Amino acid sequence: MADSTPDIRIPAQLLPADGRFGSGPSKVRPAALESLSGPAGKVIGTSHRQKPVRDVVGRLRSGLAEMFELPDGYEVVLGNGGTTAFWDAATYCLVDRQSQHLRFGEFSAKFAAAVEAAPWLESPDCIDSPTGTHPEVEARAGIDLYAITQNETSTGVMMDVRRPRGADQGALVAVDATSAAGGLRVDPSQFDVYYFAPQKSLASDGGLWLAFMSPAALTRLERTRASGRFVPAFLDLSLAVDNSRMDQTYNTPALVTLLLALDQLEWATANGGLEQMCRRCDRSAEVLYGWAESSNFAAPFVAKPDERSHTVGTIDFSDDVDAATVARVLRANGVVDTEPYRRLGRNQLRIAMYPAVDPEDVEALTACIDHVVHALA
Ligand SMILES: *Cc1c(COP(=O)(O)O)cnc(C)c1O
Repeated sequence: MADSTPDIRIPAQLLPADGRFGSGPSKVRPAALESLSGPAGKVIGTSHRQKPVRDVVGRLRSGLAEMFELPDGYEVVLGNGGTTAFWDAATYCLVDRQSQHLRFGEFSAKFAAAVEAAPWLESPDCIDSPTGTHPEVEARAGIDLYAITQNETSTGVMMDVRRPRGADQGALVAVDATSAAGGLRVDPSQFDVYYFAPQKSLASDGGLWLAFMSPAALTRLERTRASGRFVPAFLDLSLAVDNSRMDQTYNTPALVTLLLALDQLEWATANGGLEQMCRRCDRSAEVLYGWAESSNFAAPFVAKPDERSHTVGTIDFSDDVDAATVARVLRANGVVDTEPYRRLGRNQLRIAMYPAVDPEDVEALTACIDHVVHALA
């Protein structure tokens, strides 16, 4: 049977301490999970409109603003539905007439598709590039929102966040940072909206979106509200801002997601903040890509070294090694979620290197892959 998993047992001393390498949902630190049964977890099962839960939201908002050194006037906004809901909300509330989208993978294409389907907007200006690369923003007259993706989770390509030169006055830069926020460096002066969901670099669970918004983005929301455009309440970012300012969400959030996000944020802050988290990811990436480059059966999928993501690594295998079989053997040994993004369809493994993942575990993983490939030969 083509799908059967060869019986290969990886020696215990090679295994990582934690075998979770999924790109999302991703590894949650065991200590964060344990905290849920301690004092921090006491709010579970209580009202999100009362002070104890609002304190959690407040600490999350102020902690993120501090960690990212958000300039005065920027606000931390949150709501339900994850990044996918945020795309729809942005389609209603942030795009005025026409947006530009860099499309270089599944996620960046989905936001573009949401805008394309909206009859009240002009067809978006989409710039594509071959998978494994990213296009560059091109300032054009009439574009009022530039949509970029700091880390394309489906391909493992990362890009710098930079305002385009020559864009129209007031044009917004909106960054999908879902798998980047907290693990890749960013300069807040270069964006108006930096949005993400916490089940990736923030090592929490799904269902929530968070967004840092500049004064220009907040002004855009007011303009949409004043324009009379119909906006479903669930997707109304003005309502999200109103609620966030009271440390609440428009409807009931998953309290566990909030608690895990706060725990991870406080862990990151206690361990040196954003710069130290980025250095952990740098180290993991150095280990992973260094191993792949010196391997005789593996190679980094992304050709340009500075576009290889430090939070989600993609590694191509030579034709004589079946990556899917390697992933299945790893899974049978408790090392999980190394499968590639399903729609990419390549003979590769995809490995999350978020801040919660220990660089030593990435090193152990490479040794496990070597062991499995030799055993399969
Ligand atoms: C995972 C991911 C999304 C989707 O996030 P959801 O919370 O599942 O909607 C969007 N964009 C990027 C870059 C992602 O990695």
